[in-house]
Amino acid sequence: MLPPFLQPDRMPTTCVVGILWGDEGKGKVIDYLAADADYVVRYGGGHNAGHTLVLPSGKVVLNLVPSGVVREHTKNVIGNGVVVDPIHLCAEIDRLTERGVKIELGQNLLVSERAHVIVGAHREQDHWTENLRGDTKIGTTGRGIGPAYGDRSARIGLRLGDLIRPDRLAAAVAAFAHQKNAWFEPAGLPRIDVDSTIAELRAAGERLAPAIQDTGRLLREARLAGQRILIEGAQGCLLDLEHGTYPFVTSSNASTGGAFSGTGLPPHELEVIGIAKAYATRVGEGPFPTEYDGDLADRLRQAGNEFGSATGRPRRCGAFDSVAVRYSGAVAGVDRLVLTNLDVLRGFELRIAVGYKLPDGSTTTAMPAFDLERVEPEYVELPGFDEDVTNVREWAGLPANARAYVEAIEEHTGLAVRTISVGPGREQVIVR
Ligand code: GDP
Repeated sequence: MLPPFLQPDRMPTTCVVGILWGDEGKGKVIDYLAADADYVVRYGGGHNAGHTLVLPSGKVVLNLVPSGVVREHTKNVIGNGVVVDPIHLCAEIDRLTERGVKIELGQNLLVSERAHVIVGAHREQDHWTENLRGDTKIGTTGRGIGPAYGDRSARIGLRLGDLIRPDRLAAAVAAFAHQKNAWFEPAGLPRIDVDSTIAELRAAGERLAPAIQDTGRLLREARLAGQRILIEGAQGCLLDLEHGTYPFVTSSNASTGGAFSGTGLPPHELEVIGIAKAYATRVGEGPFPTEYDGDLADRLRQAGNEFGSATGRPRRCGAFDSVAVRYSGAVAGVDRLVLTNLDVLRGFELRIAVGYKLPDGSTTTAMPAFDLERVEPEYVELPGFDEDVTNVREWAGLPANARAYVEAIEEHTGLAVRTISVGPGREQVIVR
């Protein structure tokens, strides 16, 4: 038999990433692609993410649990790059179970033993640091995600595997509390109580124990065995800690780079699918060059129901930005784009940002690392469409103006759009 790397029929691993600031509709696309995936894997973020799936039985919002959980044959992995609030995870499992989603720990839901743990102290710290920022708040969800990643880098974090090893847990929590209380107390933050923290984490660990495994090894073996792995991004590429709109970013590598470090899979044969809305949205603070204001923003927000699925926060809305999409697509190595929410643009004027005017009067088509809030987008305008496209299933069935808009997006981003989503439902898809 040929060694695994020479076997010609190995299925590629696919990674789905959001191209802008999240909420692009990744949940629906992953749900669609999960139909023939053996594994669906999350690689970053925490329970600030919120995928929305619209199933025949109704709407399901997922925070930590990967989107393949609603498929019977799919194993779902929360990778080592995710920061896990074990209390929230237990509650999410309960909520999904009540909705009729079958979750069997260790069978269709697995969590990396290397994933870092969010505890109450991280939430306290999150609010405290955000308040200290005064007028320069970054719009964190306050769920402790940034501080948990900070402690991971500072090498004082707790890992999920600690929760199922009582001796390690006691020592790890004591060391963690020792470090944190040294500055929590002078800062006026509540002191971390070692005993109650251990008790709480141990209880969660007992419940989650069957799911806590060496998932990196499992995935590498699955890959060599030719199983199909779908890696799902949380948030979006412009929230990537290093390649995003720093400091208004998340604390992990949301772009494709995190797909390797956050799962333990090697960087081979990865097909990358970028998800972009047919317009742009952003939640929280930070620069957003093509943002609309006033009535136009309100109309688009209502038409697209642009309110956060995890937090309910209204999303900022604006025009499609080909500068940002081309940049993110290049960093993430996107092979093709899925364009979502085309239906929402019915009745709107269509425009695409194709360049930025910089404060010094020059123009660029490259994404600046600084002063993004000071650029002025340059637009091309296209005629809109008034038809309802939610029932269209063929490219030729789209209004000519909608097709021209999609083609203009391809031209200005340099990325092929092969799939177009025209509604929240599973079947509301056009494949070209
Ligand atoms: P994610 O985090 O990228 O999965 O995005 P969310 O799930 O938070 O937001 C996407 C929202 O748009 C959800 O409510 C989806 O049901 C909905 N959605 C997805 N695709 C489409 C589409 O093509 N058209 C419309 N109108 N809604 C969509």
